[in-house]
Amino acid sequence: MQPRRVAVLGGGPGGLYAARLLKLAYPACEVQVHEQGEPDATFGFGVGLASGTQRNLESADPDTLRELVATGVRHDMTMQVRGQRVRVRNDRLIGVARTELLAVLQRHAEKAGVQLEFGVRPSSAELDADLVVAADGVSSATREEGSFGAHVETGEGLYLWCGADFSLPDAVFAPVETEYGTFVAHAYPYSGGRSTFLIETDERTWRNAGFDRTTVALEGAPPSASDEESLRYLEKIFAGQLRRHRLIGNRTRWLRFRTVRCERWSDGNVVLLGDAAHTAHFSIGSGTKLAMEDAIGLVAVLRDSPDLATAFARYEALRRPAVERLQELARRSQLWWESFPSRLDLPVERLMVAYMSRAGNVSLDRFAGSSPDAVGVALRQYGGTQPHGDLVQWVLDRPLTHGGRTFPDRVTVPELKRVHADLRNPWSPEADALVARGRGSGGVLVTGPAARSDVLTRLDLAERIRLETGELTAVEGPAALREDLAAGLVSGRTDLVSLTEEQV
Ligand SMILES: Cc1cc2nc3c(=O)[nH]c(=O)nc-3n(C[C@H](O)[C@H](O)[C@H](O)COP(=O)(O)OP(=O)(O)OC[C@H]3O[C@@H](n4cnc5c(N)ncnc54)[C@H](O)[C@@H]3O)c2cc1C
Repeated sequence: MQPRRVAVLGGGPGGLYAARLLKLAYPACEVQVHEQGEPDATFGFGVGLASGTQRNLESADPDTLRELVATGVRHDMTMQVRGQRVRVRNDRLIGVARTELLAVLQRHAEKAGVQLEFGVRPSSAELDADLVVAADGVSSATREEGSFGAHVETGEGLYLWCGADFSLPDAVFAPVETEYGTFVAHAYPYSGGRSTFLIETDERTWRNAGFDRTTVALEGAPPSASDEESLRYLEKIFAGQLRRHRLIGNRTRWLRFRTVRCERWSDGNVVLLGDAAHTAHFSIGSGTKLAMEDAIGLVAVLRDSPDLATAFARYEALRRPAVERLQELARRSQLWWESFPSRLDLPVERLMVAYMSRAGNVSLDRFAGSSPDAVGVALRQYGGTQPHGDLVQWVLDRPLTHGGRTFPDRVTVPELKRVHADLRNPWSPEADALVARGRGSGGVLVTGPAARSDVLTRLDLAERIRLETGELTAVEGPAALREDLAAGLVSGRTDLVSLTEEQV
C-alpha cells in the first residue's frame, strides 16, 4: 500500500528510525515526527547495541549503521566481587551515547525528508494522517488511550540510571555490600569518553539507606531534577569503580522497571512500536534493538500489504516471536539480577558462568569456546581437576562430597524428598512455600514438566533451596537438556541432576 501522510508520535530511536525508513520507502509520502522534548534533551546515558542488531541495521540502512558504529565503543566485561575479578572478551556489544544515537537518527531522518517537530504532545486522535506510528515510549499515552489490551508488570528491585565523565576500560559488574544491604553497579563505557552507571538494589536496602525518603522528596521537584543525595552516597561506595570521578545525574531517580506487554499492537490506523508496545529488562540491553527492528519490520510489511489491517496483522506476526523470545530472556535475567546478592559466596569465575547462563541463552560449551580461560578456572573450581574431553559429560561425571556424603558423579541421585514445581517465577510466594518444604528434609529432588522453560525455572528454584536451606538439591530433567543441567551444576544452582528419557 501507499500511505499519503504518516504521523510518528515520539522521537526516540524507534520513532526516528521508522520515520526515516518510511520516507525512504515512500518518497512522495509526508512523514512527520512529533516529539515532546527538545532536539538535544534526552534521558539516559549510553545504550548497548549488540552485533545482531548491527547486522539487521546493515541490511535495512547501511548509512545510519556506519555512523552509529563510528560513534560506538567496544568493550570487554569484568566482574568484580569481594576483591576477586574475572574478565571475559566481548565482541558483541558497542556502547553508544543516547544523545549521539538520537542525533544521528535525527540527522538521517531529516536527510531523507522527514519533518521533525519538537516540544509538542499531540494525541493520536488529533493527528490528520492515514497511519499513526505511536513510538511514544514506555509510558505511552497512546497505549493508555487506545484499545491494545496492555499489561504492565512492575519489577521488585529498584534501579538508578546515571553516568560518569570518564571512560571505563571494560563493562563492569560490581556489587558493594554496605551496612544497609547490597548495591550492584552495571557500568560500561560509551562514546565521548563517558560511562553509564546503572545501580540496582532491593527494596529493603533502598529503604534502609533512606532512599524511599529521597524518592518521595523528589515528587514535587521539576522533571529535570536528580536524586543528588543518592548519587553522592553511591559515589562513595563505588569510589573504586569510579576512580575518583563523580556520578552525574540526568533526571536520575530510583525507579522500578516496567515490563509492558500488549495483546494487540494496533487499533484503527494507530500502530504501537518499540517501548510503547513492549519492554525488555535493561540487563539484556535490547530495548533499542527491538524498537529499531520493529521499524524495519513495519516498513517491510507495509510495502506488500493491500491495506493497513493486513499490514498490522503481518507486522505482529513478524515481530511478536522475536519480541516475546527476548522478553522471556529479559524476565529471567531480571529475576536473576534481583536475587544476585544471594550468590556472592560463589567464586567470581563460577559467578560469571552463572551470569552468562542465567537466561538459558548462552550454553556452557559456547561460553567455554569464547572465554576458555575464565571458564577453565570456573570448571576447576567446580570439579577440582583440569577439564578434558566432552565438557558436559565431564561436568556430569564429577564426584561430589556434601554434608559427609560422597556421590560418585552428579547423576547418581539417592532417595530424596520430591518437590513438584510447576511455576513461572521461582521467587514468588508459591515458590517460597516449596523452599520451606525443603527445610530439614535431608535433601530435595525438584521435579516438574519436561519443557525447557520449566527445567530452567526448576534450576532457579533448586538454587534457592540450596542457598536458603543448605540442603542437598537435585533437579530432574530430560537428558536432552543435559547441557542446561550441566550449566546449572557449574553455576551452583543444583548439586545433582536426575536425567530422564522424557521428550522435550
Ligand atoms: C535503565 C535502562 C537502561 C537501558 N539500557 C539499554 C541498553 O543498553 N541497550 C538498549 O538497547 N536498550 C536499553 N534500554 C532500553 C531503551 O532505552 C528503550 O528500549 C528504547 O529507548 C526504546 O525506544 P523507543 O523509541 O521505543 O522509546 P523512547 O526511547 O522511550 O522514545 C520515546 C520518545 O517519545 C517521546 N514521547 C513520549 N510521549 C510523547 C507524546 N505524547 N508526544 C510526543 N512525544 C512523546 C519521548 O520524549 C521520547 O523521546 C534501557 C532502558 C532503561 C530504562
